[in-house]
Amino acid sequence: MSTFAQRDLAGWGRFPSQNCFATRPEKRREVPYAANDEFVSDIIARGLGRSYGDAALNLDAGVLLLEKLNRFLDFDAQTGVLHAEGGASFADILETFVPRGYFLPVTPGTKFVTLGGAIACDVHGKNHHRDGCLSEWVEEFDLLLASGETLTCSREQHPAAFWATIGGMGLTGIITTAKLRLIPIETTSIRASYTRTKDLDETLAEFGRDGDFRYSVAWIDCLASGASLGRSVLIRGNHAAPDEVSGDPLEFGAKRQKAVPVDFPDFALNSLSVKAFNALYYAAHPDREKIVPFEPFFWPLDAVSDWNRIYGARGFIQYQCVLPFETSRDGLKTLLETISASGRASFLAVLKTFGPQNLGLLDFPFSGHTLALDLPASAGIVEFARELDEIVLNHGGRVYLAKDATLSPENLRRMYPQIEEFVAVKARLDPDNRFQSSLSKRLRIGGAQ
Ligand SMILES: Cc1cc2nc3c(=O)[nH]c(=O)nc-3n(C[C@H](O)[C@H](O)[C@H](O)COP(=O)(O)OP(=O)(O)OC[C@H]3O[C@@H](n4cnc5c(N)ncnc54)[C@H](O)[C@@H]3O)c2cc1C
Repeated sequence: MSTFAQRDLAGWGRFPSQNCFATRPEKRREVPYAANDEFVSDIIARGLGRSYGDAALNLDAGVLLLEKLNRFLDFDAQTGVLHAEGGASFADILETFVPRGYFLPVTPGTKFVTLGGAIACDVHGKNHHRDGCLSEWVEEFDLLLASGETLTCSREQHPAAFWATIGGMGLTGIITTAKLRLIPIETTSIRASYTRTKDLDETLAEFGRDGDFRYSVAWIDCLASGASLGRSVLIRGNHAAPDEVSGDPLEFGAKRQKAVPVDFPDFALNSLSVKAFNALYYAAHPDREKIVPFEPFFWPLDAVSDWNRIYGARGFIQYQCVLPFETSRDGLKTLLETISASGRASFLAVLKTFGPQNLGLLDFPFSGHTLALDLPASAGIVEFARELDEIVLNHGGRVYLAKDATLSPENLRRMYPQIEEFVAVKARLDPDNRFQSSLSKRLRIGGAQ
């Protein structure tokens, strides 16, 4: 009898929410059976569902919930290489290895992601300009194919499968285990530096002085207009040395999370309330340096569980794009003017610098500036996101599939020139197109309609 059961699922943005058929294997040996269960027409892996849109959904088809596959298999203290199952979460890795003096080489803005999900999106952190994407630190992974065969993929072994799966949104198979190189740390504190800028030019100029900082990000006031357009608070830092902290230098206590208990009503977030929040945030961050603990520096939003409910039951999208350095000033200006004029409120907007692109066929980052902001999924959101897509395309940029819920198949092909190569590798690894998602069907990747 099939273990799949009907379930409404959504990404972190809660838009869209879809009827799927899900099963949750407890052990690795159960995965091949679940992946090939004929009860579902096709299937996609899901970690902790922290992608925002429909990447880990599969409307009326199969979803494999992998968060129970979370065992650590081996750790080499000489090299820092951790061998773990694909459902192991970054939160678990941190809790176990930080007190032993190891840290994640790359972390997204939440620690509630799985190793498999993070590889499938090839996540970036505040250190992309220095350290690249997560894949730079992935030695190898085991990929379960639809045939039941497992390929151990690395830069040397099955490199085509490696570079298609890195950033490949789960469409080549299931990452059952992976080896990730952790970095040594001496403290769990950051020497943080806050720099306030008055407009976009000053913000971009300041990013140009990132050289000394391993971590760098800017909160940008995307509702500021006129002379203040692009004003930001840059938040940058490096790991603090032991003599800069008091007490246990490797203390890492998971604080109790506060929760958003209900969906906020639609009127709670409007451009006036967000404008007021943004003005307060800007005023509260004068230029200064201070030693801060890891948690608020890397994962400020994790302090409030279910914060996605503040956008109300209708949900929201996160729009993230990257623009090359040559055009980013003009592109960002047009994007910010369009967003500010639309009155669509977003108080979570961040700007970062990316370093060079890697070999991942669907990898998102390339050298340039990336802007990410939340937009409530109010009437006309798809059309508005597509208006933004045109601006991004006109400036040679692209959007991040891990966040996407609105891109069109045509624009995917204009943004990701290696998509046909990806489809060709997928066809070799998955000839019957067993691995599909709502995202791949919407974007017509891999023969899906
Ligand atoms: C608050 C917040 C901040 C974020 N900040 C960042 C950021 O700074 N940088 C960044 O890059 N991203 C960021 N993200 C996005 C997030 O890091 C990625 O979407 C990540 O992949 C989510 O991991 P997950 O385990 O929840 O995967 P899911 O959302 O469950 O799945 C994401 C994709 O991975 C695939 N997948 C999952 N597990 C496997 C597996 N075992 N094998 C094969 N494929 C698999 C799925 O099919 C899907 O396509 C953020 C998200 C949130 C909510």
